Amino acid sequence: MRKPQNPEVMYLDFNGFFASTSQLQHPHLRGKPVGIIPHEGNGNTCIIACSKEAKAFGVQNVMPLPIVRRLCPDIILWPQEVDLYRRAHNYLMAEVETVVPIDAVKSIDELCSVISDTDRANPAALGREIKRRLLKEVGPWITCSIGFAPNRLLAKIACKDGGRDGNNVWHPDHVPEFLNHILLKDIPGIGPGTLQRLYKAKIGTVECLRTAAPKHLRQIWGNVAGERMWYAINGYDIKAQPTSRSRYGHSRVLPPVFRSLEACRHITRILATKAARRMRRDKWSSSKLYLGLAGYFGGYWVRAHHMPAICDDMGVLDTLERLWARAMRELPPGIVLLRADVVLDELTLTAQRQLDFLADDELTRQRQEAITAALDALNKRYGSTVVTVGPWSNPAADRLGAKISFTRIPRREDAW
Ligand SMILES: [Mg+2]
Repeated sequence: MRKPQNPEVMYLDFNGFFASTSQLQHPHLRGKPVGIIPHEGNGNTCIIACSKEAKAFGVQNVMPLPIVRRLCPDIILWPQEVDLYRRAHNYLMAEVETVVPIDAVKSIDELCSVISDTDRANPAALGREIKRRLLKEVGPWITCSIGFAPNRLLAKIACKDGGRDGNNVWHPDHVPEFLNHILLKDIPGIGPGTLQRLYKAKIGTVECLRTAAPKHLRQIWGNVAGERMWYAINGYDIKAQPTSRSRYGHSRVLPPVFRSLEACRHITRILATKAARRMRRDKWSSSKLYLGLAGYFGGYWVRAHHMPAICDDMGVLDTLERLWARAMRELPPGIVLLRADVVLDELTLTAQRQLDFLADDELTRQRQEAITAALDALNKRYGSTVVTVGPWSNPAADRLGAKISFTRIPRREDAW
């Protein structure tokens, strides 16, 4: 495997993207501690993101509101603005792309690029150029951190590490020294489970990880990802594994008026329709639907139902109704729900699925898929919810499925 002699990959991460985008849009929020909440009004249980001014008080992303208020009594709570974030994402990516071609958009506020030979000689200058461009075209309210390193994993670590002015260049010769003050838990790809296994194997520092035998890491991980980690951390040119889609889901923290079983059922119909629509767009079908309900009954109720591999709204909503029938049987009436999750799991490419002949539903399926395709076409042309299957109650001014996500960039079609 090749070991680059220069930094070749750039990783860029916008700082406090959600809060700073709202600050850019609403001048009265600028320079103030801001916490982004899921929806307007009471009933929010946590903030989902916060501004750097709030972080200075010790506030963190995804923190319960009582703790946030204790740390920072003057915090301004501001509801998420999904459509604004989507537009800001597109705009910022376009600005960066005027300076350097983007290879992969990693999330709504992260991207990476393989840089040119010229830039490899002086990556810091490229970083400064990008920052100059953003300052000139966007202004001082949205800033970014940039990391350069021999491969993507190291570039991401360098980026998160910050360095001077958030423009951090890790030359291959000095990678081991740079890694010295990084903690194992801060390495992307090392979750709590892996961390436990590493500790058990007496690997407690990045230095131990870097100097371990690749085979040993393979054992600890239980698969080839361990070996890949060794090569990445040692500065080899290792490409990211293609990730395959595993599920489509939508979750929703429920506004107070939607916390009864019956009202929540309507919300989940919308969530399921949205998830199915995204899944169809990517040409997948699902054969398992999950419904999860969290509430004041001291736990999390979750049930799954198998289906033949399907992608049409009617099939998904039918299955959802079966799950709701169980929920109504198993949960006490009158309980208060706080969150609903709908997940389409066990995916196969629609083109490759084997229709379930035992279920003898091929004709029905074909008919329902034809109807769904027609609905999609109408909705695409005339607005997202012109035609839907069954009743549809969408709380005004509240966009249900398009909650903000750190890993998925909402598309225009999702903002309804
Ligand atoms: Mg960020």
